[in-house]
Amino acid sequence: MLDQATATATEPAGEAGTQAGREGGTQAAALAGGQALARAGVVGVTIVWADNNGIPRSRTVPAAQYDAAIERGVGITPLFAVFDSHDGITFDHSPLGTPSGDIRLMPVPDRLVRLAGQPGFAWVPGRQVAADGSAWPYDQRGVLERQVARAAALGLDFLAGYEMEFHLSRAGDDDGDEVRPVYDGPSYGPAKLLAVDAFAAQLLHDLDRNGVPIGQLHGEYGPGQFEFNISPADPVTAADRQLLARQTVHAAARAHGLRASFAPLVNPGQVGNGWHLHTSLSQAGANLLSGGDGPAGMTAEGGAYLAGLLRDLPAVVAVTAPSLSSLQRLRPGYWSGAYTCWGVENREASLRLVPSTPLLGAGHANVELKPSDAAANPYLALAAVIAAGLGGIEDGLTPPDPVQDNPGSWSEERRAEHGVHRLPATVTEQLGALLGNPRVRAALGEELTDAFRAVRVSDAARARDRDAADVLRSYRWLY
Ligand code: GLU
Ligand code: MG
Repeated sequence: MLDQATATATEPAGEAGTQAGREGGTQAAALAGGQALARAGVVGVTIVWADNNGIPRSRTVPAAQYDAAIERGVGITPLFAVFDSHDGITFDHSPLGTPSGDIRLMPVPDRLVRLAGQPGFAWVPGRQVAADGSAWPYDQRGVLERQVARAAALGLDFLAGYEMEFHLSRAGDDDGDEVRPVYDGPSYGPAKLLAVDAFAAQLLHDLDRNGVPIGQLHGEYGPGQFEFNISPADPVTAADRQLLARQTVHAAARAHGLRASFAPLVNPGQVGNGWHLHTSLSQAGANLLSGGDGPAGMTAEGGAYLAGLLRDLPAVVAVTAPSLSSLQRLRPGYWSGAYTCWGVENREASLRLVPSTPLLGAGHANVELKPSDAAANPYLALAAVIAAGLGGIEDGLTPPDPVQDNPGSWSEERRAEHGVHRLPATVTEQLGALLGNPRVRAALGEELTDAFRAVRVSDAARARDRDAADVLRSYRWLY
């Protein structure tokens, strides 16, 4: 679904005070500081990061305070590292075992965007640093930057892109056992977009103005389900844009009396919302997933990348699909990737290799990770993927034969013969996989890994005496 061949990340330019400025979407170059923001009519800058539940968190400063925020950041509690999915704070991670302390949230100024859907506000991703300005081990964006730097030291460049599936309902139709979909007609039909015509037009406009390039938008398979795919970019940009895309969707939905749910599974028994994560790696400009003589045209390094991902998949998925809603989404037969296997263009495989073709060009090849969703912190998700893949390259792994069937239709014996296993299905199994995996753990760092563990345990404890539908409901509007 992603076109790696058209991978150029566009940075729309705009100038404060021009029509584009008034409409929002003005980019950083034109809005370098607080005064320029204020002149352009921006009243507040929202600094956003994602926590260990994949939930965006934020602080908003008045435009006049933005320059000070660039210099010194704004104070936030270190305990955001141990917030669970329902805003409970767990003290089970001992280094963050008291309510004392403060860290600084620093905007990343060159990523500032005036929001097209909220023209009074600008949006900027944040980095978390210790009170004295030094590195803070729980800063998720920093975790990803380290993996990107590690890849660069090996001469490897990554591209990443997200598919974003979501569910739309009319505001007010959302508090029963099931969320009533905004439209329940044929999947993929143009009438599905017609049902949300004004929203869809605004979304396309605002994504463009906000600098989130997409390949396409469509009415997806599930009732009320829609999808767009963000064009590939370097990993940190891809994660920043995934966060910005959420804000853009929520604003456009609200403007049209709609409500968007990004939850991995919105209604019991229906298809889930996957945020499939596509990655490719290149060396000296050549995509290593094509042009070789390995399976599906992969080079030896490209195959090793895929094999590394496959080897560490249970630990990776503990990061890329970590919530109780995620676990309910991962079922055979739903194209969400429930088993550890890879396949060429196999939509039931958790790792789908999308090969290059003469039509699409050598740059097109990429690996799609299906067990990935909104509950993943996008920076940690990409860091886990890159770390697992680089591990495969360092160890010179080769991938097993691809699986071209639905492994869910195989017998347990046949799966075992092919080394195909069900991905962890409980929090305990996921944490076992994560904590037992040296590569993904090292990428996250010991402090963050343990905080992440504590948060997952807290989520599980909260769900212990509740039925599955009740648990699902509690995740609907978090992301
Ligand atoms: N909705 C499916 C999921 O949960 C994905 C369908 C598709 O392949 O687009 O991941
Ligand atoms: Mg889809």
